[in-house]
Amino acid sequence: MNLKIALLAGDGIGPEVTQEAVNVLNLVAEHGKHTFEFKPLLIGGVAITAHGTPLPEETLKTTLACDAALLGAVGDNKFNHLPPNTRPEAGLLQIRAALGGFANLRPATAYKALADNSPLRPEITEGADIMFVRELLGGLYFGEPRWWDKDKNLAHNTMVYTKDEVVRVARIAFQLAQKRRKKVTSVDKANVLEVSQLWRAAVTEVAQEFPDVTLEHQLVDSMAIHLMNRPRDFDVVLTENLFGDILSDESGVITGSLGMLPSATLGGKVNLYEPVHGSAPDIAGQSKANPVGAILTAAMILRHSAGLEREAKIIEDAVIATLEEGNRTTDIARGNVAGQRTVTTTEMGKLIFDKVKTALAKS
Ligand code: NAD
Repeated sequence: MNLKIALLAGDGIGPEVTQEAVNVLNLVAEHGKHTFEFKPLLIGGVAITAHGTPLPEETLKTTLACDAALLGAVGDNKFNHLPPNTRPEAGLLQIRAALGGFANLRPATAYKALADNSPLRPEITEGADIMFVRELLGGLYFGEPRWWDKDKNLAHNTMVYTKDEVVRVARIAFQLAQKRRKKVTSVDKANVLEVSQLWRAAVTEVAQEFPDVTLEHQLVDSMAIHLMNRPRDFDVVLTENLFGDILSDESGVITGSLGMLPSATLGGKVNLYEPVHGSAPDIAGQSKANPVGAILTAAMILRHSAGLEREAKIIEDAVIATLEEGNRTTDIARGNVAGQRTVTTTEMGKLIFDKVKTALAKS
């Protein structure tokens, strides 16, 4: 298997955590005699410094010629004075739009070893394993017209979806559910919004193509409560852009730290993979960043862009085993707890790497 991967490490902790993900990917490549070719490219603040723009043409052109893109994070306080459309973060929005991925996958998994890190009681979170599928290119964030008339004290945004936009993302959610626990929960606000009525009708139609998957509908307001009361009941949660943004962030509490969360955006010209967290300038350069989100993102590359499901699972199991041994970066450390030790970014990466190496050798 040959895979060309655009490596967009970006700013702050981005390069630190992506390096740990790359180490694990190289290990899998070496073991399986695959060729993973990484193309290091500039994006965000480092690109502004080098080329005066957060998304240089070369970065976009080369990424479009790759099979997958792995992004660390963008954002640097020294550019906060710039207008939003020229800041590091603009580079990320531009590349997401150019790659055209519309299905944003965000897993929220409760790790037994981290049960005490969640504000939710362990008996509520234990075993929770949700895959959010958030529509990423439509809805309120992109709908036109949009404006703010400051003289009139009036602002306007538009929530708009076509049936085709709903159908294509729904199919991805059902396909994922077929490989998981065979349940899709579609979230909308169909008791109030026409857009949600279209959403519900289109998802119900797509469900006919997947008779082995159970479909349920939930209204977004009650779903926000169900997620905290009974997260274990959900498998794949499918929703539109704004609702997905809010609900997937809310579900971060199940895992216990932002540094643990991976994501993948599928359906465009090139799949884009990134940990959910930002550039964390407060801890950048100190080897304090948790690399698990980035390493789990590497597992998503193997699963969704390389068809290497077994290797993806090996990485996920290695993360669990490393946590169960009590290894903690500072974000998931809980003070003087017996059996726990605080490790650096590189130490955590190496511990996971070693476990992956052992598991691959046995497989
Ligand atoms: P952030 O995610 O960078 O950090 C929030 C908090 O979580 C901080 O205390 C940070 O130390 C901690 N944290 C984040 N990731 C961590 C990790 N892997 N390990 C340990 N702790 C971690 O969000 P923010 O502080 O709101 O934003 C910082 C910069 O990142 C801003 O410039 C913002 O625009 C940018 N940002 C980028 C992305 C992205 O690139 N996808 C996402 C969000 C924010």
